[in-house]
This record gives sequence, C-alpha cells and structure tokens, in this order.
Amino acid sequence: MPGCSRPSPPSAGPAPSASAVGSCAACQAKPVDPWIQDILAIMCPQDKAFLQDLKARGVTITAYDAIHFDDPYYDCKNWTTKPFEAAGTTSCEPPPPHIDMIRSASAEENAATVYHEGVHTNPSQDGMRWRDKEYDAYVKEDRWRISHGLPPHEPSFRASNGQTDQAAIKAFVDKEYPGVISKPTHGAAPEQVVGKDPSGLTIVQRADRTTYKRKPKKGDSFSGSQTTVPPGGLDIDVNKLQCP
Ligand SMILES: [Zn+2]
Repeated sequence: MPGCSRPSPPSAGPAPSASAVGSCAACQAKPVDPWIQDILAIMCPQDKAFLQDLKARGVTITAYDAIHFDDPYYDCKNWTTKPFEAAGTTSCEPPPPHIDMIRSASAEENAATVYHEGVHTNPSQDGMRWRDKEYDAYVKEDRWRISHGLPPHEPSFRASNGQTDQAAIKAFVDKEYPGVISKPTHGAAPEQVVGKDPSGLTIVQRADRTTYKRKPKKGDSFSGSQTTVPPGGLDIDVNKLQCP
C-alpha cells in the first residue's frame, strides 16, 4: 500500500469523545496540549517546514497509549502469532494519510515518531517496497536525530564515526519487520511474505509483485491485525502541531 508503513488498520468504529478519554484515571499520558508543546520543543525551529508540509497535505494523527500488531508467524510446525509493539503506524488509503502513534513518556521519542511516520506519509515513498520504506524512514530518522542531538533509535544505527550506519538499519528492518525479506527459491531479488491461504500455505510476493504459494517455512511472518489502547484514541490537531 503506497506510502505506508503498515497495512491500513481495520475500522475501529466511532472514536470516544476527548472527555471520555481524558476521564480515564489510569491513563499515564499528559493532557494533549502540553504533550504537543513538548514535541514542538524538540522539533522547532528546525522542523517548521516539515510540520507545515504535514498540515498542507492534510495528514491526520491519532494518539494512543499502546499499538500492537498480532503478526502471524510460522514456528516450523504451526502458524502462531508474534506480537509486535509499534511506536507508530501510517495508513494512506483512503487519503489523506493518517498516522497512529503512541504517547510515550519521552517527548524526544514522540518527536522522532512524528518525524518517522511523517516520512512514511510523504509521496516520495509511493510505490516503494515495505522494507525500502523502512530503510528510508530509519535512515532519515537517524540523520534527524543527529541534527537534533538525540541518541539513535537502536545503538547499532550509529557508526563509530557518529554517522548513520545504513547497513545496520537494513539488518534491523530485515530482522524485525515481518516477512519483508524472504529468500527466493530462484533468482536473486528478495521476495516478501504477504500472507497465508486458508490451507496454511505461505503467500509470497516476487520482486515483480506477482505472487505464488509454497509450503510454510520456519520464520515466515507477515503483518497482522492492529489493536490500539484505548480503542478510539485521541485525535491530535495538526494545526496545533506547528512551529511558531
Ligand atoms: Zn516505519
């Protein structure tokens, strides 16, 4: 799905009102406006144009306390589920692009998530393979982190010279993102696991985007259903997520 880091989430039904979310005594997150101010303190003034571009393209953002994916995973005997905790996820269909992100306790991490997911909404990622979108977003995110004096997302992402280690980022994406690299049965171009059929056969997408089925292999995995906490989340006003 073009420009997106994850498949579009299933419709979650009507969102609860902001007051309903705000009344949750157990919620650790701050009220939304201070939360936005903390992000802007990290991003401004450097990211003024980036945030203006999100607004101009009509990007919408919903915040949650947690986002999980239940990714189907073949453990060598059976299809089971491997949980994936996400900081953010982007969907682009139907337009405009939409970002789901968590409100972590760290303003730096929240700002990095806005940046990373914002990269996924950019038309420059249209048509890219999922792994290529993630390589691109993590490389740009790490350069953004360097320019903001922030530590890397993963220690391995920063080479000993202080610059972004692109090979380490590729290795991380290939390992952590379900099914993005599947060894082809023939030819050199990597393939991607994209699903399974009702009988349990793995559905694999070739480099030319045609698909075929084969017996499942240990480690086969693909993106599964998304669950958010709370279910409806809290809509973030991108008009407020702007540098002065
Ligand atoms: Zn991403």
